[in-house]
Amino acid sequence: MKILHHSKTFAGGIHPSEQKELTEDKAFELMPAPKQIILPLNQHLGKFPKPLVKKGSEVKIGELIAEQDGFISSPIHSPVCGKVSKITVGANVSGFPKDEIIIDVSDSDESILMEPLDAVTITQEQIRERVKNAGVVGQGGAAFPTYVKLTPPEGKKIDVVILNGCECEPYLTRDYRFMIERTNDIIAGLKLIMKALGVEKGAIGIEDNKPLAIEKLKLAVKNNPDIQIVALKTKYPQGAEKMLIKAVTGKEVPPGKLPFDAGAAIQNIGTALAIYDAIVKGETQTTAALTVSGLGIKEQKNIIAKVGTPLMDVLEYCGGLTDEAVKVVVGGPMMGIAQYDFSAPIMKATSGILILTKNEINDHEETPCLRCGKCVDACPLNLIPTRLSRLTQMEKYDEAEKLNITLCMECGTCTYTCPANIPLVQWIRLGKKQVNVIQKARV
Ligand code: SF4
Ligand code: SF4
Repeated sequence: MKILHHSKTFAGGIHPSEQKELTEDKAFELMPAPKQIILPLNQHLGKFPKPLVKKGSEVKIGELIAEQDGFISSPIHSPVCGKVSKITVGANVSGFPKDEIIIDVSDSDESILMEPLDAVTITQEQIRERVKNAGVVGQGGAAFPTYVKLTPPEGKKIDVVILNGCECEPYLTRDYRFMIERTNDIIAGLKLIMKALGVEKGAIGIEDNKPLAIEKLKLAVKNNPDIQIVALKTKYPQGAEKMLIKAVTGKEVPPGKLPFDAGAAIQNIGTALAIYDAIVKGETQTTAALTVSGLGIKEQKNIIAKVGTPLMDVLEYCGGLTDEAVKVVVGGPMMGIAQYDFSAPIMKATSGILILTKNEINDHEETPCLRCGKCVDACPLNLIPTRLSRLTQMEKYDEAEKLNITLCMECGTCTYTCPANIPLVQWIRLGKKQVNVIQKARV
C-alpha cells in the first residue's frame, strides 16, 4: 500500500534492490553485554575526548570516562560496569588507529543516570547542555556532535527542522523499526530539536516504501499542524541532506554550503530519539541500535547493543556466519565499510552490519569505460564521475578540483550504475583526499 501516489523526490539517483524484507518485521532485541568492551576515542567527527580513567579504574554504566575536549568534541560514558584493563591503540571500524579504552565487563548493572528534565519547561540552553553532556552524536553516519548542530551560527535563519526517516540504504531497517516502535518519542524528540533551534515548523521525510511508518507518524501528529509527514519517492540517495531538503522544501542547498544556508536543519530519526532519551530519561549515549542482515548471517535481526561490543560478538549473537558469507560491511551496502578484523567494535553511530554472500555483491571484472554516460545521469549532484575518476588516476588534481571533486558526497550511486564495474567512488574518494591536502597547503 502506498500512501501518496505522487511522492516528492530529486533529480538523478538509482533504485537498488531494497532487501528490507529480511529484517523489517524484526522488533529490536536487547543484546546482552559481551565479556569485554572496546571504546575507541575517535567515535565522532572533531577533536577526540580526553580519557579520565586509567588501567585498573572501576567504572559503572553511564559513568563519564572520557571528557569533551574543545567545541567540536563529545564525551564518552561507560556502557557497562567493570574494570579498565588497558588503554591502547587499535583500529576502529573505519580502519583509523586511535587510542581506545578496553573494559572487562562485570556482572553488576549499576547505572549512573542524569536527572530527567521536563520536556515542556526546558530552555534552549538546557537542551544543548544536556545533549552535550550526554555525548549524543549524529546517527546518520557522520557522527557529528549533535549539540553543535543545535547551535547554529549567528544570523542564520532556520525555517524548518527535517527529520530524516528515509533510510534509503538497502537492507537497513533500524530507523524503520524506531518509527514503528517509538513513534511518539520521535515526535517528542523532534519538538525538542525545534525548541532548541527556535523553529516553529517540523517535518519528517520518509520514503514511500514504508507505509506503516508513514501511517503511524501521521496519526501521532494529527493534532500538531506545525509538523508534516512527507512521503518521498523510494530512491537512493533520498536520505542525503541536500536531496532531502530539495524533496521536502523544494529549496536547493548551494554548492559547498550547509543545510542552514537553505533555512533547514536536518537530524536523523535515531538522533531525535537519543536527544529525547538524554532529556526525558537522563540517559547517556551508551547503546547503538543496528540492523544485522544479509544472507551470510544465520539470524537477521534488529538489535540494541552496548557501544564497544566487538563485531564478532554481534555475529555470534546472530547465530554466526553461513557457509556462503564472503563479505562483512559496517553500514549500508552503498556507503558502508568492508571489514577484515572482526575484533573492531561497533560505535555510537553504527547503523548496521551486513554479511553478504557472493550473489549479493558485485565481483564482476572491471572493463574499460564504455562512455555510456550512465554515471553522469545518475549523479544527484550533477558531477561527472567518469571524468573525476580518470583525473584522479592521472593525478591531475587541479583539474579535478575545478570540476568540483570536493563536492562529491561519496554516495556510491555512480559506481552502482557503471556497467564497466569501474570503482568510481573509490577513485573519487582518493582524489578528494589529495585535493583537500593541496587546499590545506595553500592556506
Ligand atoms: S559518489 Fe559522488 S560522483 Fe558518484 S554519484 Fe555520488 S555524489 Fe556523484
Ligand atoms: S557509467 Fe561507467 S562505463 Fe558508463 S561512462 Fe560512466 S564510467 Fe564509463
